Amino acid sequence: MTQKKPIKKIVIVGGGTAGWMAAAVLSRLKTGRQLDIALVESEAIGTVGVGEATIPPFVDFNRLLEVDEREMLAASQGSFKLGIQFVNWGKQGDSYIHPFGAYGYEMGGISFHHVWHKFREAGDNRPIQVFNLETMAAHFGKFARTQDYARDDLPPVNYAYHLDAGRYAQFLRKYAEARGVVRHEGRINDVRLDGESGFVTSVQLENGGELEGELFIDCSGFRGLLIEQALQTGYEDWTHWLPCNRAVALPCNRDDGSPPPPYTRATAHSAGWQWQVPLQHRNGNGHVYCDAFMSADEAHDILVSNIAGKPTADPNHLRFVTGRRKKFWNRNVVALGLSAGFMEPLESTSIHLINTGINKLVSLLSLDGVTQAQEDAFNRLTAKEYARIRDFLILHYNATSRDDSKFWNYCRTMSVPDTLTEKLELFRMNGQIFREDDELFTETSWAAVMMGQGIVMGGHNAVADTLEEVSTRKELDEMEKSIRFVVQHMPGHGDYLKRYCPARAIA
Ligand code: FAD
Repeated sequence: MTQKKPIKKIVIVGGGTAGWMAAAVLSRLKTGRQLDIALVESEAIGTVGVGEATIPPFVDFNRLLEVDEREMLAASQGSFKLGIQFVNWGKQGDSYIHPFGAYGYEMGGISFHHVWHKFREAGDNRPIQVFNLETMAAHFGKFARTQDYARDDLPPVNYAYHLDAGRYAQFLRKYAEARGVVRHEGRINDVRLDGESGFVTSVQLENGGELEGELFIDCSGFRGLLIEQALQTGYEDWTHWLPCNRAVALPCNRDDGSPPPPYTRATAHSAGWQWQVPLQHRNGNGHVYCDAFMSADEAHDILVSNIAGKPTADPNHLRFVTGRRKKFWNRNVVALGLSAGFMEPLESTSIHLINTGINKLVSLLSLDGVTQAQEDAFNRLTAKEYARIRDFLILHYNATSRDDSKFWNYCRTMSVPDTLTEKLELFRMNGQIFREDDELFTETSWAAVMMGQGIVMGGHNAVADTLEEVSTRKELDEMEKSIRFVVQHMPGHGDYLKRYCPARAIA
């Protein structure tokens, strides 16, 4: 549906991470144009209050905003993240890291894991992890950025952040308000639609205010105030593949005074899993579970007995339904954040989807009006992104040999999307991984999780056998040596944070 009405005012509904990320980026479009941007949020309703682990594209998001990394991390008590450690997933007692950087590098035009497999078959017992800088640094609790090296012939460090979500939103609020975004406090109690087109024309506030606009960004969280409650867009439910539907979050101190590890930890329990997100001043913790297999009390007790120190807040109980809106852009409403969908936080992909949603919106946006072509392109591209991430998440649950609970028996034996079945078959056959539709997860990501969950590569790409053995082995040795060298010379993560971006005192 097309509305050839020039866009002079954009209204962002919601001031959580999604709302303020959108406001910060859109505020940059105001330069040299007549464009008003309003953001409305309700302190009484509040934000979801979780969502503290990110992935590497988020570093670029902040870079594009030209925010100072040190200042942002100090303000949000942030720390660095080199990957995610998965504990007890393939089977109890297992542990592996899904790192942000690649295993080795391409050799002979093929991915490194094929070459590693060829040498492994020939008796080289080195685990693939020694060829990944982020895994090794995480293992030893070390951190530095590539810019800190005095040399440029060493492997780069790929990283993301752990952040206090509330503080990060406040940081972006200051940024956006300084660039002219106008914040309105109040609860929306009505949404007005145009009788003919069905486009949203305004939102009404309980305090009597009204905000009109030509484009509305729905960042209202799970409730989907505009996209669902007003436009009834519909929801695709993925509970049968991603059955967890509840979480309890509980931040805590690190009582032993240990430095924050440079990675997120995801520990599987009997009906879900627990996150540990180490910030400078505390750990974020939470237990994601399925209420068909575990009660809220049990989930809470398991969490409390597996955290590093005294809780610093009351438990925050949350409910969700995994899946996505049938459309992310409907008429003149674009949904970002939890109002668009939620898969679950296992691979820290939600904030990333806000980021890519904003990127697509800005690329497609024309201030001349809203067209069907924009809507269709946005929806098609976003749906593909969601589906690829969904498959990657399902992999963690389905590729397991755990049979110690009804939950794991369900996950292990459930049917999975055909797209995932194909990926698994190809990897089992000869380690082949195809990255489709610009998907987020790299070959290393798929290889790390598949191998980490216990899937065995049955063979490798035939090109690996054509590589000259002596010189290739020498390259592998050099690779391992330079990673060891970098890690040895990195400071501890805690020391790095103290020097680079010490957290500002909490008021
Ligand atoms: P919210 O934070 O819920 O904000 C909604 C906003 O809308 C609020 O400002 C509210 O006041 C406003 N609002 C709602 N209704 C009205 C109304 N009627 N009138 C006025 N204002 C209104 N993501 C990650 O990337 N990494 C993670 O580690 C991660 N962990 C998570 C763990 C859990 C258990 C959950 C549930 C989510 C997690 N996420 C994570 C997702 C992440 O929390 C969200 O993507 C992110 O916080 C964005 O939320 P939001 O801004 O869409 O919604």
